[in-house]
Amino acid sequence: MRDALYIDGRWAKPLQGGTFDVINPATEEVIHKAPSATAEDVDLAVKAARRAFDDGSWSKLPGAERGRYLRSIAAAIRERLAEISRLEVLDNGKPYPEAEWDIGDAAGCFEFYAGLAEELDGKRTETVALPDARFVSKAVREPVGVAGAIIPWNYPLLMAAWKVAPALAAGCTVVLKPAEQTSLTALELAAIAIDVGLPPGVLNIVTGPGSKVGQAIVDHPDVDKLAFTGSGPIGSKIMEGAARDIKRISLELGGKSPFVVFDDADVEEAVEWIMFGIFWNQGQVCSATSRVLVQENLYAPLLDRLVEEAKRIRIGDGLAEGTLLGPLVSRKQYDNVLAAIAKAKADGATIASGGGRAPNFNKGYYVEPTVITDAPLDSDAWREEIFGPVVCVRSFGTEEEAVRLANDSRFGLAAAVMSADDERAERVAAAFRAGIVWINCSQPTFTEAPWGGYKQSGIGRELGRWGLENYLETKQVTRFVSEDPWAWYIKKGEA
Ligand code: NAD
Repeated sequence: MRDALYIDGRWAKPLQGGTFDVINPATEEVIHKAPSATAEDVDLAVKAARRAFDDGSWSKLPGAERGRYLRSIAAAIRERLAEISRLEVLDNGKPYPEAEWDIGDAAGCFEFYAGLAEELDGKRTETVALPDARFVSKAVREPVGVAGAIIPWNYPLLMAAWKVAPALAAGCTVVLKPAEQTSLTALELAAIAIDVGLPPGVLNIVTGPGSKVGQAIVDHPDVDKLAFTGSGPIGSKIMEGAARDIKRISLELGGKSPFVVFDDADVEEAVEWIMFGIFWNQGQVCSATSRVLVQENLYAPLLDRLVEEAKRIRIGDGLAEGTLLGPLVSRKQYDNVLAAIAKAKADGATIASGGGRAPNFNKGYYVEPTVITDAPLDSDAWREEIFGPVVCVRSFGTEEEAVRLANDSRFGLAAAVMSADDERAERVAAAFRAGIVWINCSQPTFTEAPWGGYKQSGIGRELGRWGLENYLETKQVTRFVSEDPWAWYIKKGEA
């Protein structure tokens, strides 16, 4: 576990020597003192990133060479997969097999953007057809500049990869701030950057509280672009901060995503995907399908099976063999989720399963997998993100009603539909007002496909080629090629 920030290619202790506790959510024990940066450290990090961008040593490097660095980072992550996955579990609480999956995906993300960096060399310049033969024009793609990346705690290294990989591929330099709850694997990324010889200043990693370290990145005039994943209220604040200097922004915020299950669906398949949609990563997933709408005929049998299976989920320390549900990430998140369940009850909902602290644990932030029914349509349980293993289930009659209920949300991150009728599934997929739609499944995420939200779930898209766009500007270069003078003011023979 590392005890320094990563600035200008080197380990750097915070100037004021601050630290903060890293807590294992399974045991509530302090397992490390992580470095806590201040605005002064952020300033050094941004200056290093600025220098590395402005001197062209990274931004003007051929994409193929940047791609080589990205591939080396991916290979180093894969080499240390088991060790990094274990750190992720200690820090975040998730079951080890999930962590392994995430870390493998993080490596895959660096590989994917290595490919796009290589391709960029051939795609940087595009000829623009003009209707006026006196001019020729081209559009040139250039990196945006210094990117500030601020990420949450639910997929610590993977969220870092989603931002750092495309930014570096585009030729940007980066200042990354992980969430204070989960900084360990981001600091391992720093160690990897040092090992692969990433040039100084290209990537900088500063850890510490969002209100100080994150805010200092947002406020820094030398940051050109902000990429943020986290909660809506902080996203709003970041947008406000960015507005001052017209910084570019991309936001990945929360959701309350619906999962519509028609009565021609297979009950076992539906229950499996509903569970994957809400209990995976303890439900701490922005795209979790936390509102399940089941067609009337299927409602009772599906609910029975869901409750049965929710009660059987093996809860435990993420490092214990067979664990399928670990602790929530922090005391705060644990308190928030239990408070949301209590509020649901007070608002008239029924707790069909779970609803409290998981029994048999004296320590650790364990919450039972919870199934809620009868949540009123205007209740917080139905409308607000809980970000825990808590699903609300209700029935619907017609397709039209299902679509109306599904879209009745200020969020629009994801939506899922299950039906044996492909045409109906496609119709509903088209009707969803959401950036990510799953048919006959929920949650599978591919680096190649665009990721992001409609409505209050965010701005912009990450992943795939769309993710690269976040870090590119477009420059028009137009040349006057006519043999004849322009002669608007100065006409030949009149001087
Ligand atoms: P959060 O918004 O509190 O924190 C996210 C990040 O922002 C952290 O690194 C935090 O330190 C930083 N931060 C906090 N205050 C800041 C400020 N004033 N200026 C700059 N940075 C600041 O969210 P969280 O509690 O870490 O994560 C949970 C939320 O994130 C959930 O609501 C969830 O929906 C959302 N989320 C969304 C996605 C997505 O892809 N859309 C992914 C993961 C999490």
